Amino acid sequence: ERLVSGGSDAVERAAEAALRPRRLDEFVGQQVVRNQLSLVLDAALARGTSPDHVLLSGPPGLGKTTLAMIIAAELGTSLRVTSGPAIAHAGDLAAVLSSLEEGEVLFIDEIHRLARPAEELLYVAMEDFRVDVVVGKGAGASAIPLSLPPFVAVGATTRAGLLPAPLRDRFGFTGHLDFYSNDELEKVLLRSSGLLDVPLTAEAAAEIASRSRGTPRIANRLLRRVRDWAQVRGDGRLDLAAARAALEVYEVDPVGLDRLDRSVLTALCTRFGGGPVGLTTLAVAVGEEPETVETVAEPFLVREGYMGRTPRGRVATRAAWEHLGLTPPDGASG
Ligand code: ATP
Repeated sequence: ERLVSGGSDAVERAAEAALRPRRLDEFVGQQVVRNQLSLVLDAALARGTSPDHVLLSGPPGLGKTTLAMIIAAELGTSLRVTSGPAIAHAGDLAAVLSSLEEGEVLFIDEIHRLARPAEELLYVAMEDFRVDVVVGKGAGASAIPLSLPPFVAVGATTRAGLLPAPLRDRFGFTGHLDFYSNDELEKVLLRSSGLLDVPLTAEAAAEIASRSRGTPRIANRLLRRVRDWAQVRGDGRLDLAAARAALEVYEVDPVGLDRLDRSVLTALCTRFGGGPVGLTTLAVAVGEEPETVETVAEPFLVREGYMGRTPRGRVATRAAWEHLGLTPPDGASG
């Protein structure tokens, strides 16, 4: 499993859950979204009603699930969790919706992956708090409306642009999460080291932060790997030397690129001459799903100026060639 990607391993998930901030004021960074959200929630609480539905967009690991949990906690209600891929049929979603209690928060992760019939059912549920239960088949089928208690939908997506406009429009508030600064990641790390009860020096926190690709999930994961190293190979202290040695073992390079990032760039430069090459072809070359390359590796590579997206495909920049220690062709940009 990839060290810095969104892993599905149960142990990692449990470790992650233990470090989640529970309330809005514990949530580090994302000042703009935090302010906006706190207004939305406070206003709803003051009126004694449910807030508008909330859409959270941004790359993996920046805190969308955490914010959904915080929304439920701040509203003093419970959270129900589902995801686009988990809902195979509209009927599955109808079952979830009809079991909601008044005021509950329904979190739909990867909402852009909902199948069309489920998506249409969701519009109606969000707008009119109603689901139409279809009984019978063919010409004799009829829809029986079933009213739902008011609930709050919180959708999460890595790409808000992928959502069809009618669905997007049903969210009264959209928060876009952006990559964290190194300062913010240092705060996340120091908070986590306190919760894990491991001594982390300021230099080590800065070193880990700078290799965490702007992502708290990665920062926390690297922190746990540095802790492993310190316990097994070091003297238990999480200092700069321990951080550097551990990150070398795990092949996280000084700018935070991991093995997948480097293999994407290497394929782009050495197999496709720097591109342009289509996403799918590139993904096949590195043995990954196109979605993984597009949502996990690419946003960071583009943001850091190693890769460009053009209408004809992905291209390596001069910085990519140089980072890999290769000689850029004359035409390499940037
Ligand atoms: P995905 O879409 O891949 O599920 P996500 O955006 O939902 O990712 P979360 O699961 O919410 O990400 O966050 C990942 C981990 O990062 C959490 O365990 C949490 O501890 C930590 N984290 C995220 N945001 C923050 C933050 N602002 N402050 C402190 N810790 C954070």
